Amino acid sequence: MTSPDSDLPALWTHEPHTHLEFKPGAKVAAIDPDATPGFVGSKRDAPVLQAERNIRFAELQEMLYANSRAGDTRSLLLVLQGMDTAGKGGIVKHVVGAGNPQGIDYASFGKPTEEELAHHYLWRIRNALPAAGHIGVFDRSHYEDVLIVRVHDLVPPEVWGARYDEINAFEKELVEGGTKIVKVAMFVSLDEQKKRLAERLDRPDKYWKYNPADIDERLLWPKYQEAYQVMLDRTSTDYAPWHVIPCNRKWYSRLAILELLIEALKEFNLAWPPPDFDVKAEKKRLAKA
Ligand code: AMP
Ligand code: MG
Repeated sequence: MTSPDSDLPALWTHEPHTHLEFKPGAKVAAIDPDATPGFVGSKRDAPVLQAERNIRFAELQEMLYANSRAGDTRSLLLVLQGMDTAGKGGIVKHVVGAGNPQGIDYASFGKPTEEELAHHYLWRIRNALPAAGHIGVFDRSHYEDVLIVRVHDLVPPEVWGARYDEINAFEKELVEGGTKIVKVAMFVSLDEQKKRLAERLDRPDKYWKYNPADIDERLLWPKYQEAYQVMLDRTSTDYAPWHVIPCNRKWYSRLAILELLIEALKEFNLAWPPPDFDVKAEKKRLAKA
């Protein structure tokens, strides 16, 4: 099937968001992390397509940035959530990394520091929001405050329970302020996670990614599945929907998230900002200078 959007590569049957947006009532337990929804190509097609679309992404990112120099205050925020080894780092490196670092604001959220704990949980999040014209990337996010915090009861249930509505209100405020939010929940299977953790333990160049605590979280898989389900059910809104990304095939998850970013940037209807000077006159001046 061809898409009305001529920019969409033919290997996608529909704009990826139509396949990946979380549908109300959908079940986390039914997600197939091996799937490649909407993509009719294969792994062999991935490198060339990824390279092509990285260029498109970089062009749109630069346009967003250029417009901010001309006063446009809009921005994009990519929220990455997923269990350990789901591939968040790979998205940062291979997808967002195709952009110009000048316009990328990267933030990762680990266990809160003492200073962070002394503040409201959204304090560190607000401090890391993308500047005008920038693309922000949250490598984990405020959603940890309803995921690991819920799974471990790090605060009482009535406290984390109130956060879903609070997060929705917070994101609404961001969207109304001109920040487009692309939320992706990355799903790797329990077996694939085991392989990826084993690889980290086998390779000295991957030890740095390994954390013994990852096994403790892995043992709580069913509780995490439940926490992800409630997160998707309660915080997938029309202004900031979740996308469910099968991540057992890294080449697919990268292509899919790349395409979601391109779609979101295109919704800004960007064009190169017109000159705020007289081009002809400047050419004349330059010729004589
Ligand atoms: P990583 O992203 O692999 O470096 O790991 C960071 C760890 O910090 C993960 O286990 C997260 O679940 C944990 N983390 C992130 N945010 C919070 C939070 N608000 N409270 C407790 N733990 C958190
Ligand atoms: Mg980790």
